[in-house]
Amino acid sequence: SMSVAGFDVELAEAVANERRRQEAHIELIASENYASPRVLEMQGSVLTNKYAEGYPGKRYYGGCEFVDVAEQLAIDRAKALFGAAYANVQPHSGSGANLAVFMALAKPGDTLLGLSLDHGGHLTHGAAPNFSGKLYNAVQYGVTSSTGEIDYEEVERLALEHKPKIIVAGFSAYSRVIDWARFRAIADAAGAWLVADMAHVAGLVAAGVYPSPVPHADVVTTTTHKSLRGPRGGLILARENPDVTKKLQSLIFPGTQGGPLMHVIAAKAVAFLEAQDPTFKAYQEQVIKNAQAMAAAVMERGYKVVSGGTDNHLFLMDLIDKGLTGKAADAALEDAHITVNKNTVPNDPQSPFVTSGLRIGTPAITTRGFTEAESAALGHWICDVLDNIDNPAVIAEVRNRVTEVCGRFPVYEALQGQ
Ligand code: PLP
Repeated sequence: SMSVAGFDVELAEAVANERRRQEAHIELIASENYASPRVLEMQGSVLTNKYAEGYPGKRYYGGCEFVDVAEQLAIDRAKALFGAAYANVQPHSGSGANLAVFMALAKPGDTLLGLSLDHGGHLTHGAAPNFSGKLYNAVQYGVTSSTGEIDYEEVERLALEHKPKIIVAGFSAYSRVIDWARFRAIADAAGAWLVADMAHVAGLVAAGVYPSPVPHADVVTTTTHKSLRGPRGGLILARENPDVTKKLQSLIFPGTQGGPLMHVIAAKAVAFLEAQDPTFKAYQEQVIKNAQAMAAAVMERGYKVVSGGTDNHLFLMDLIDKGLTGKAADAALEDAHITVNKNTVPNDPQSPFVTSGLRIGTPAITTRGFTEAESAALGHWICDVLDNIDNPAVIAEVRNRVTEVCGRFPVYEALQGQ
């Protein structure tokens, strides 16, 4: 047989188990989602066989006439979806997109100002162990601890003091709307490029339910696999500025990548088309309603939520006053088949490996069909587990409820019509 199942039993079993896990567990990792069957189809297509170094119409290999069609569709759809003058659909990942953009706009040793990792930024926004913290003189801003919101006065002060070449706005763990216009004004005052990394909220932005950074930033980076619900990958958008866009083109290829992943680019193209469907806007509206319903439920039960709620697809539970670590909370919830991730919270006394918080996101549960009712119930189950972290009977009871609700909301049946 040509199938993996008849050839590589161990691997086939791992994949089958992963499929079962995705169906039978509740997925609350804010950066995850379930790609549609169309996206999976393109990722498994013969386009994976093709070398296509270069760009549509300007390739270094023959036989690119059909992959050119796929890449041009992806470019045109990305530009239309986000209202951008320029799109590069080749980045293999969000981190790779940021690497190419930073290299296009700054030289090693230049100053980069970004949101610190422990206040909700991404590794690539200047964290010490990442290329962005090693290659650049990274200066980091944070959130105001009393409100949990970005401290724009600090951003401005640091920008005027350090005169960064690049200011990065964007986050991996932040539940409020970003004031993109304010970042633009600060960047202008400091003479810096403004790079917006909208990886987490790209789907919300595409649907128009979260403010777009595209009109404000010089360059916008994103992943395509989070709320946007496409294949794993990166995307760069930019304003009309030939000096910048020429550099972005050459910093992806040949600057930081070789051959593009044409099967993934085809999957991006189909995901961008899916995102233009009216059902996608309804989906993203529901993502936010679900996050708000779940956050309200846990606050009702006496748990702290950073900034007191959410405007997007995620919220952060602050467990400092409960004396619980994120690590222990994460493990207990996993026992109940609820997958979350531990996360640092502002002023976290614990190490990044232990933490005092949880990050909870709703893109995945909303794809499988959960509405506010299931989301609020889920918020209560999370509190049941955390209130009874040493009580296996309570955890088993929640696990039964999780199994029941997952049975009622099968993932790949919900996606059939989309
Ligand atoms: N930027 C932000 C804001 C992210 O949250 C992430 C992913 O976690 C990335 C970039 C990096 O994306 P990737 O994991 O594809 O490298």
